[in-house]
Amino acid sequence: IERIEQTEEKLNAYITVCAQEALEKAKVADEELLRLSEDEIPELFGIPIAIKDNINVEGIRMTCASRMLESFISPYDATVTKKLRERGAIFIGKNNLDEFAMGSSTETSYFGPTKNPWDFSRVPGGSSGGSAAAVAARSALASLGSDTGGSIRQPAAFCGVVGLKPTYGRVSRYGLTAFASSLDQIGPITKNVEDAAYLLNIISGLDSKDATSAKLPVPNFLEALNGEVKGLKVGLPKEYFVEGIEPEVKALVEEAARKLEKLGAELVEVSLPTTKYSVETYYIIAPAEASSNLGRFDGVRYTYRAKNYKGLVDMYCKTRAEGFGDEVKRRIMIGTYTLSAGYYDAYYLKAQKVRTLIYNDFQKAFESVDVLLTPVTPEVAFKIGEKTDDPIKMYLSDVFTIAVNLAGLPALSLPCGLTAQNLPVGVQLIGKAFDEETILKVAHALE
Ligand code: GLN
Repeated sequence: IERIEQTEEKLNAYITVCAQEALEKAKVADEELLRLSEDEIPELFGIPIAIKDNINVEGIRMTCASRMLESFISPYDATVTKKLRERGAIFIGKNNLDEFAMGSSTETSYFGPTKNPWDFSRVPGGSSGGSAAAVAARSALASLGSDTGGSIRQPAAFCGVVGLKPTYGRVSRYGLTAFASSLDQIGPITKNVEDAAYLLNIISGLDSKDATSAKLPVPNFLEALNGEVKGLKVGLPKEYFVEGIEPEVKALVEEAARKLEKLGAELVEVSLPTTKYSVETYYIIAPAEASSNLGRFDGVRYTYRAKNYKGLVDMYCKTRAEGFGDEVKRRIMIGTYTLSAGYYDAYYLKAQKVRTLIYNDFQKAFESVDVLLTPVTPEVAFKIGEKTDDPIKMYLSDVFTIAVNLAGLPALSLPCGLTAQNLPVGVQLIGKAFDEETILKVAHALE
């Protein structure tokens, strides 16, 4: 908590800090500890964990970085937070994000932007920018983020920490504020791979409250960290190493690949030809789902309601006009348009078909390799304000992370070095569906 106090003025990584509750819980835990024998101590006993502010923690405010939910208090725990709580974790605060997780820089937050701890003039990435900045600045031991199109991996890369997006269905989304339900996943943002495996062990598994959670056994992910990468086939998709990537980023990612080769892995060039359509496909599907999911924020339920209105429709309009920021409105308008009767086939249906092609590309690549290695982003953390006037430029910063969500695969972002300007670069490891073990194993070997 002292560390949060030292760093928050510069970083703005938290929307809510639960200093008092956390200290009280820690005190109780301290006393309890004296009574517990070693094997009775729960896995996360007294461990302070931060949570992205679009995931419910009972009794604590959850804003989604929006004016719409400025004073909303979560009435229940998300499944992931319930699981952490049951293992003794202490919630120290809620991390800043882009409003409703829509963005790549944490600049669309109603509560102001988060800064990158490596360079305060730069963004931490987004949308889980507060989570990544807090872990990087050591004002959180670990945080949970959400990833719809790259929101765990891209900020992890920009802040030099580990970020894992599990397979769609591995972790329950119950209690995560829905953005694009067919893409959203919750995952850990941590200092190292071991912590990511540790948290994934706890948050994974079937949940009757989320029909998309998978009925599959959860392996012990810590056991995967055995350093055995000899003989593994590592695919380098040629479409991810093209012009337009900053040369220093490319060089550091290639160095990571060579390191794996030295450890006995085999590098294989593969092709994901439909990848080039992933940003376009995502920006039809995600806004379509968002426009539907955000319909619930109508001024009747939840907290914000416009003050002066004439009748119900006027109340809806004014509440939504005042409660949502520009980026959220842009997404709602795009989504409503692409789902409208005359355009559904041309946009939404077409995008769903391309999504299948993207998935098939990955399936084909995984016939010949065990894991894929790519950059996380084409560039290092950009300057605050650099892309705010140009949504397309902002959308393109997720060009290497988005296809993974469309295909529902697991992927991890691992720091792989610093540029001459002292800015972190991330390497992305993409695995087969439900094979988080291999990406964790490879990441651990590279660490
Ligand atoms: N940057 C992407 C978007 O704005 C992804 C966000 C996310 O993963 N939540 O939609």
